[in-house]
Amino acid sequence: MKDQDPVPHPGWSGERDATTDSPVCPQAMPYFPEKGDAIFGQEDWIVGAVYCTDDFKLTHQLNADFDRLLPLIVSCNWLPKDKRAEFVQKVKSFYLNNQPVGEDNLEGLIDSGKVMGGTTVLNGLMYCRGDSSDYDEYEKLGATGWGYKNVLPYFLKSEHNLQYNSSQNHARGGLLTVSHYNDLPDLGHTLLAAGRELGYPTDVDIGHGRLREGFYRAQMTTRNGARLSAAKAFVRPFLHRSNLKVLLNAQVMRVLFNEHNEAIGVQYMKNNRTHNLYAVKEVIISAGTIMSPVILMSSGIGNPDHLQEKELAVVDATLQVYGTRKLRVIDASVLPDVPSGNLMAPTIMVGEKGADHVKTTWSCTP
Ligand SMILES: Cc1cc2nc3c(=O)[nH]c(=O)nc-3n(C[C@H](O)[C@H](O)[C@H](O)COP(=O)(O)OP(=O)(O)OC[C@H]3O[C@@H](n4cnc5c(N)ncnc54)[C@H](O)[C@@H]3O)c2cc1C
Repeated sequence: MKDQDPVPHPGWSGERDATTDSPVCPQAMPYFPEKGDAIFGQEDWIVGAVYCTDDFKLTHQLNADFDRLLPLIVSCNWLPKDKRAEFVQKVKSFYLNNQPVGEDNLEGLIDSGKVMGGTTVLNGLMYCRGDSSDYDEYEKLGATGWGYKNVLPYFLKSEHNLQYNSSQNHARGGLLTVSHYNDLPDLGHTLLAAGRELGYPTDVDIGHGRLREGFYRAQMTTRNGARLSAAKAFVRPFLHRSNLKVLLNAQVMRVLFNEHNEAIGVQYMKNNRTHNLYAVKEVIISAGTIMSPVILMSSGIGNPDHLQEKELAVVDATLQVYGTRKLRVIDASVLPDVPSGNLMAPTIMVGEKGADHVKTTWSCTP
């Protein structure tokens, strides 16, 4: 058994596949909940490592269509209590002094929201899809069906734009309200006037996939003047559904496989204990651009060099992980390159499109 296996899978002998290094699990074993734990056994889908934009969009989409769903695993408060204050202090001084603190190297620190809604609870709210050529380039790189004409319907699907309502580029009726900031301070008016005077366009709409130089009043993901996180837009309104379960403060450690490289569930850590959770249909990993590949690697899928060499594009066009069955990655880590705008809208688009791929696989109406 490897060092990182704190509690063995009850059905796992410790044997690993010689080629993939995946755990060889003879059969899916039920998980018996601990006292005080939420009750989880087998579900149709597990969306693992959730807490981000994508998962919430995805969860909402799937939840509307399937009878048995989807424990939603959210990692909050992932540090032990006695370490939290120290960590926050280090983060603060890193940003205030712009240099690593103490002996720890925080140079690689990446912001990430650790609450329901993930990074959308702390981001800058800017709504931007990048440029259409980003997506057309992905298609040229081999991501069939990911050109701008293909992804545009998925941007429109979630959008509820209070200012623009062109049926070609913007939409109304989605769950994600997009609007200008309520207030434009005097300085904003001055900057727009200055841009106009210099001959730049001042009506640029960076939200619709055609970036150009100019000045503009940005659109944000806000509702009634307040932040609209992915959780608030896509999950909180549906928490009453009986087929949706949310598991808080749980950290996904790895995907569990059977001997056919078929994902059968996930192993997660909660209250310092390891638990297994089994999926009837699929496991979907959506932990963001950094952590999804880490979970895959912890599960024995690919070696770090190989994943890096491939720039983490380890999935096919329907987002299924090559060499495995019943395992998808649905988040921004599947994009072959970084789009030229901010990432929240593209991430939500990936969630929408990914949900349709899942529904198509399982013969449901996309
Ligand atoms: C400061 C800042 C400002 C930004 N401003 C904007 C903006 O103005 N406009 C815009 O469009 N975008 C902006 N972004 C980017 C945008 O918010 C993110 O790109 C987007 O939310 C990413 O979504 P995600 O789903 O990929 O990742 P996240 O929302 O970060 O979700 C990934 C989450 O998965 C969790 N996780 C990882 N591993 C595990 C595990 N093993 N088990 C359980 N959970 C796990 C992590 O804790 C992480 O929080 C900003 C980002 C930052 C940091």
